[in-house]
Amino acid sequence: MADTFDDYLATILAAVQDEAGGEVHEVPRALAEADPGLLAAALCTTDGELHSVGDDEHEATIQSVSKAFVYALALEQHGIGEVLRAVDVEPSGEAYNVISVEAESKRPRNPMINAGALLVHALVGERGAEQDERVEIIRSRLSAMAGRELSIDEEAAKDELSQAHRNLAIAHMLRAEGVMPDDDPVDVVRGYTRQCSILVTPRDLAVMAATLANGGYRPGEDEEVVSAPVARHTLSVMATCGMYTAAGDWMSEIGIPAKSGVSGAIMGALPGRVGIATYAPRLDRHGTSVRGRAIFERLSDELDLHLLDDPHRQDTLWDRLRQQEA
Ligand code: GLU
Repeated sequence: MADTFDDYLATILAAVQDEAGGEVHEVPRALAEADPGLLAAALCTTDGELHSVGDDEHEATIQSVSKAFVYALALEQHGIGEVLRAVDVEPSGEAYNVISVEAESKRPRNPMINAGALLVHALVGERGAEQDERVEIIRSRLSAMAGRELSIDEEAAKDELSQAHRNLAIAHMLRAEGVMPDDDPVDVVRGYTRQCSILVTPRDLAVMAATLANGGYRPGEDEEVVSAPVARHTLSVMATCGMYTAAGDWMSEIGIPAKSGVSGAIMGALPGRVGIATYAPRLDRHGTSVRGRAIFERLSDELDLHLLDDPHRQDTLWDRLRQQEA
């Protein structure tokens, strides 16, 4: 059995390496052209130990993983109650890009599907803020969570925008239902698509996840990026809605609040313990990375990281690896 986190992660990567299922996402072109063999896992404890293996410095667009972080920014800015009045927190059981809202309230069902995420994007910054201003707030706050300046792949954004018909339809529908702020829906889709085009590595995502797991403080730092209640609320919504149509299965089998993205990244956060990121571009029919899921399954099982595991269990592999590193 491995006695350091790095060795342990390397054995997990080797175990899932040859899993060949799934397809890469076709839009934007940068994702279609991604090497399907790329594979990485990274883990950052809430006291700031970062371990990673494989293609851990590979930058890819953040895609829907951004939804969780930007939701946290909107909650921080407006307060949880006000954001709840705009976007509900019920699992939809529907695909991420479904064109729908709740029948009565007209609210998007949750912030992790595109309808909710587009509205949440529009809530960031001053009312009526320019697209550039909003995107810059998001880029700079996500950079604060990652601990380095993140950049945007503007080419990927342009390419995705040229085919963003569903997202445009959703934004127009929200505007027509009177629930989108006054902004131009086309501009909101542009800004949201640039949000999805922020470039991150698996190591960045592990640190950003650890910031949520650590009550809103990037591990080792004194500056709060979001408050503890906001971090907790964001993790709750990741737990119930983060994995689209596979959310129930993910919670029962793996039990780590998480968010997937079509780039093939999965970001997960376990409060008070660890932020985890995996990256492997081929996706299953729910839009979840096939090998990323396999890695999370092993981590959850072998390190006793399921949220509902008995917290008093002793001498787990997690404890032993932590002691080795101490
Ligand atoms: N930019 C993609 C979209 O909004 C993200 C989808 C995803 O990662 O699930 O359609």
